[in-house]
Amino acid sequence: MGKNLTIKIFVAIGLGIVFGMFLNMLEPSTFKDDFILGGILKLLGTGFLNLIKMLVVPLVFTSLVCGASSMDDVKKLGRIGGKTLGFYMLTTALAISISLFIAKIINPGNGLDMSSVIVEEPKISENQPIIDTLLNIIPTNPIQSLANGDMLQIILFSLLVGISINMIGEKGKIVKEFFDALNEMCMKLVSMIMSLAPVGVFALISNTFATTGIKAIFSLMLFIFTVYLILLVQAFLVYGMLAKAFTGLKLKPFLKEFFEIALVTFSTASSNASIPLSLEKMDKLGVNKSISSFTIPFGATINMDGTAIMQGVSCIFIAQIYGIDLTIQNFLTIILTATLASVGTAGVPGVGMITLSMVLSSVGLPLEGIGLIMGIDRILDMGRTTVNVMGDCICTLIISSSEKELDREKYYKKDVSIQ
Ligand code: ASP
Repeated sequence: MGKNLTIKIFVAIGLGIVFGMFLNMLEPSTFKDDFILGGILKLLGTGFLNLIKMLVVPLVFTSLVCGASSMDDVKKLGRIGGKTLGFYMLTTALAISISLFIAKIINPGNGLDMSSVIVEEPKISENQPIIDTLLNIIPTNPIQSLANGDMLQIILFSLLVGISINMIGEKGKIVKEFFDALNEMCMKLVSMIMSLAPVGVFALISNTFATTGIKAIFSLMLFIFTVYLILLVQAFLVYGMLAKAFTGLKLKPFLKEFFEIALVTFSTASSNASIPLSLEKMDKLGVNKSISSFTIPFGATINMDGTAIMQGVSCIFIAQIYGIDLTIQNFLTIILTATLASVGTAGVPGVGMITLSMVLSSVGLPLEGIGLIMGIDRILDMGRTTVNVMGDCICTLIISSSEKELDREKYYKKDVSIQ
């Protein structure tokens, strides 16, 4: 994505907010609701989103097969898997702990007039036995997994395909070359589709701001502020320190590339939709594909630090508006449940709000509280998804550096001045 395109997307976000707010103030009418919101904006926004989604499965499949087939050492694959899982779980637990701590200082639920907010019926998330969750990772029909976009099943299948290509030696070469070419073709498609981003982003953002009531935004301002503040702490302090400590890299090149990913996560609120661009950017930053092709889609599926932050603030907020005191044990239960819930949260818009019910019920907080936050969920989702994806990218950087699979010269683009 060129510099010009980034500026265009940035402007599109700004214009989208203004236009969305303007639409929100207009009285409901067929012109506004059916022609603008449900017509043109829906066509452009959802059309762009669908184009990106179209690439997720082919791209994850081909790049993971390429990645796994270029790893000679199966042990190494296991080691990377273990490290990645450990990193994802730890950062999520850290995120929710920080979130509970800061929210307890800010007290976002104090002084809220609940009557000013429309209450909707919350959806309840169902718990699944852990054995079933594990069994669900094994695809009984991989074609079906690909068709359904079931990410964990696709990851397992692609890894096995990649490993076996490697194991059949000379004969596997042709298959490997085929997948390499297919992967490159998918990457090309990513940049073609990204050139449409300004229009798509404008439409998505306008729709969000037109449908989220301005009144709801104002009455929940302190809550939104708390979530965003903690998201910033996680992004710049926690990730910044982790990346520095484990890679020793200057973060400017990373942040420059990540900014463009953030524009996409912010407007789509979907970790999954950002996979194609994240893979492209990691490649630009010198990360070997064998690492990013695994850590990025895996992270988009199981690593949700931003979501955990929103859930932490929500727990404090709901406890406060219902006048419930949380104990230390409650806090520990919230940390554990939110970390596990994050694994079960799909990387698509709005799911974090549904898994929030699991976290709330783990400590007996009233589920009706979700209804209060639901109206502004999209505003929170844009920020938390960005942090979710930033966590995936930082982990990718750290794992690739620890595996000596990071081309530092490419990372700095040979610019000695910033080394
Ligand atoms: N939208 C988030 C994501 O895609 C998930 C969520 O918290 O709703 O990462």
